[in-house]
Amino acid sequence: MQHSGRIWYNIPIMKWTKSLIQTLRENPGDAEIDSHKLLIRAGLARKVAGGLYAYLPLGMRSLRKIQQIVREEMDRAGALEIVSPILQPAELWRTTGRWDTMGPNMFKLRDRGEHEFALGPTAEEVFTDLAKSLISSYRQLPVTIYQIQWKFRDETRPRFGLMRSKEFLMKDAYSFDVDADGADKSYWNMYHAYERIYERCGLKAVPVQADGGDMGDSMTHEFHVLADAGEDGIAFCEGCGYAANLEKAERRVAPRADADCPAYEEVHTPGAKTIDQVAAFMGLPGSAFVKSLIYSADGKPVMVCVEGDRDVNDVKLKRFLGAKKVELADFETVLRASGANAGSVGPVKPADASLRIVCDIALKGAKGRIVGANKDDYHLKNVDLARDCNIADADFADLVIAKEGDICAKCGKPMAIKRGIEVGQVFKLGTKYSAAFNAVYKNDKLEDHVMIMGCYGVGVSRTLQAVIEQSHDKDGIVWPASVAPYQVVVENLDPDKEEVTKIADDLESALEAAGIDVIVDDRAERPGVKFKDADLIGFPVRVVVGAKGLANGGVEIKRRCDDKSKMQIVAPDAALEAIKALLGDPAVRT
Ligand code: ATP
Ligand code: MG
Repeated sequence: MQHSGRIWYNIPIMKWTKSLIQTLRENPGDAEIDSHKLLIRAGLARKVAGGLYAYLPLGMRSLRKIQQIVREEMDRAGALEIVSPILQPAELWRTTGRWDTMGPNMFKLRDRGEHEFALGPTAEEVFTDLAKSLISSYRQLPVTIYQIQWKFRDETRPRFGLMRSKEFLMKDAYSFDVDADGADKSYWNMYHAYERIYERCGLKAVPVQADGGDMGDSMTHEFHVLADAGEDGIAFCEGCGYAANLEKAERRVAPRADADCPAYEEVHTPGAKTIDQVAAFMGLPGSAFVKSLIYSADGKPVMVCVEGDRDVNDVKLKRFLGAKKVELADFETVLRASGANAGSVGPVKPADASLRIVCDIALKGAKGRIVGANKDDYHLKNVDLARDCNIADADFADLVIAKEGDICAKCGKPMAIKRGIEVGQVFKLGTKYSAAFNAVYKNDKLEDHVMIMGCYGVGVSRTLQAVIEQSHDKDGIVWPASVAPYQVVVENLDPDKEEVTKIADDLESALEAAGIDVIVDDRAERPGVKFKDADLIGFPVRVVVGAKGLANGGVEIKRRCDDKSKMQIVAPDAALEAIKALLGDPAVRT
């Protein structure tokens, strides 16, 4: 601390030897993707148990910077920050029925009085209940409330470090409006705030249309960071810019002009259960077959037929059938409905003559196909779906998961499939929650109306790792300046030499005073070790201060992403300006 007149200036200084930074040479055994390996090796976080991490000082600094960007953009968008308890009473969840429908993803517990609680996996119920108690008049609307709070989900497969953990930091916001137009404005207001958030984090995140599930009018976008390590598939059309996740992506199918085929006949296919096995047995491609599956839609059996080389899209199926739940039927249902076991099911004369058969649109007009014979170990060839099956015209629809080369429903160009990491989502909820809570406002005639809601999530901790996934090289992380743990590392190569240390420390103070955060590597280590660590952690700017360099003209400055040829040598008193220039536009810094 320096004393100047009556004011105390507290300039934070950070020396590596006091920083608890520990880098690791070895990749952690459970890390499958680069960002997870780097997160641990660079000493940003440590695993406490499966899906549970401690954020170490370096990781905490980046997390705080991301949080701050999120907070500033929420505030700029007019949202109000609050914080609600992680521990949420069961009765709120029972109001919407989600206490039962959330399933095992929710951590549930009891207090000593046997009252039931959940560790919040999200907070629609809590916020709707709060809005109900805080809002009574249209004059208070529209309003958007948000928090940045830890969330808990008992994920089936926690993995990839912070990407899918059991405890994670989420920004969740909820908007309340008087009508659909207002809700639309709130939605796009948040959508644009999200674009700014990811841009300021140095991330390329693309908005993609997603399926709204059972909620409201189902308008929703997910923001994805494109990366091969992403868990989600996204269909992109270069022609018109359409982007949708695979559950949602709609495709156009050209009408078929299949040649007429003779009457169908039975083929014995002993032991061949899957399409691949039957295809290999008959020496034909998967597309010559019709894949037929018996589903249970809200408990009612239905046969679903798609081309042999395609997969049924459960989300599209559920939406098409207007069902609450669809799942593959158990084997008894399959046997009862079709007359055969799963490998031999087909749309020609199933045992249950009243069984509804729904087909993917690509099968409309299909002739000469091979289908299960509804008799174990037999298939039928030369099937003409219109001639030989009892399928209503209205039961042909887009029911498959989109794949590479499918035709864009909007513009007719082929679509590409890429992988993405979902870092956020904006969602129009309609009145699903507000109706359940009877969250109403009074209009100017003092009549009650249910509020229209939206909800908006940013995976703050997942975003941290997504930045690493999108921005690294073989040596380590390449942080964008806005979210780097420190923007500058000053490498003091001769910490035992007073004149060198003074120059390093003076530069540190000058940088801090200029609002640039800096760490001085004051370890008595070989330069090679120090440079390797600097590259691994990925500070945006590296400054080298050493006796040899000073004798040769000054300090060496380079950006993390520059190679040695771009290194500048400047006099110590010119270093601050040179660093500022390298860090670029101050607007990108926090
Ligand atoms: P996912 O499909 O990846 O499981 P989600 O769609 O269920 O995520 P949301 O309910 O939309 O997640 O939550 C908002 C954001 O929180 C997500 O966009 C994601 O960035 C983040 N998130 C969700 N689950 C996790 C998790 N287990 N670990 C880390 N971040 C998560
Ligand atoms: Mg989501």
